[in-house]
Amino acid sequence: MDSTNKRTDVNSLGEFALIDHLTHAFDNIHPSTIKGIGDDAAVLDYAPLCTVVSTDLLVEGIHFDLAYTPLKHLGYKSVVVNVSDIYAMNATPKHITVSIAISNRYSVEALEELYAGIHAACAEYQVDLIGGDTTSSPKGMTISVTAIGQAEKSQLVYRNGAKPGDLICITGDLGAAYLGLQILEREKRIWAEHPGVQPDLQEQKYIIGRQLKPEARKDVIEALRRVGVKPTSMIDISDGLASELFHICRQSNTGALLEEDGVPIHPEAQLMALQFKLDPITCALSGGEDYELLFTIAPSDAEKLKYLPEIYIAGEILEPEHGVKLQTKGGNIHELKAQGWQHF
Ligand code: ADP
Ligand code: MG
Repeated sequence: MDSTNKRTDVNSLGEFALIDHLTHAFDNIHPSTIKGIGDDAAVLDYAPLCTVVSTDLLVEGIHFDLAYTPLKHLGYKSVVVNVSDIYAMNATPKHITVSIAISNRYSVEALEELYAGIHAACAEYQVDLIGGDTTSSPKGMTISVTAIGQAEKSQLVYRNGAKPGDLICITGDLGAAYLGLQILEREKRIWAEHPGVQPDLQEQKYIIGRQLKPEARKDVIEALRRVGVKPTSMIDISDGLASELFHICRQSNTGALLEEDGVPIHPEAQLMALQFKLDPITCALSGGEDYELLFTIAPSDAEKLKYLPEIYIAGEILEPEHGVKLQTKGGNIHELKAQGWQHF
């Protein structure tokens, strides 16, 4: 190779700048492509309905560690993270494809476990497994799931529809999945140093469950439809609240004021954050993997949400010049920082 060739480290860009860098020269040529790159899922207009497509890739050692992740849970979660993106468009998932690359370290029985989890998720979210691909890998396991969903065009909710004055809503407690991961990592280290010591994780059952067996908020999407509320913008919280709120604000060209008081954190997560000497709100803002939904609604819809359990109002969308800010419990206002997951 020519030694004068430029070599840029992928870390110098970060995930989103890298995607943009690699894809900005692609123009969509089909009128049916009404949303391409940049939202939770792509939207294809096949009138009278739209098809919604999202894909995710999970790599052993990066996204999951089989030292503490049961394969059945992994199978379930790999479907959940995808259908979550379909719900985040206010669409209904209908089908999935599953592709796996596996080394010969995995037995048929192990893969049966993985697929038992996939099966359970297909039943829970009412999706058909319609295909995929199976191939070998020199090392470890990689799982790619694509979810395909459906919606009426008028029903779809994008990241770019938030308006100043809209209320910021969150569908459940945040930070627990991240703390669950911290516990599992800690127990793995203890196990490595003292094999045979059985951890007692009873008191952390909730937060470990949030990490190993998340659910997508199908129930919330159905409830919103029932009460006749269509969010103005929506995204699922896979990378942490701060990063997702930035996506909404950037794409909607707005600012926002998030209130710490309105961000739900489970008591078990509060406790565990303090044990790890972490600020609970930081875990909620930057943790990720909770797969709750972040959405905005017109203030006139607030009344209709009153009787829905588990919807927390956590601030307001502002004009863009206000930036994206956090009001702490003490009343101080800080610039919000987005620190999503860095996988590179
Ligand atoms: P999410 O967190 O909702 O899964 P991502 O952050 O993974 O979304 O992706 C953001 C957007 O970039 C999506 O529209 C996704 O389809 C697109 N994208 C991600 N990676 C690539 C890639 N390598 N090539 C083309 N598009 C990509
Ligand atoms: Mg998403």
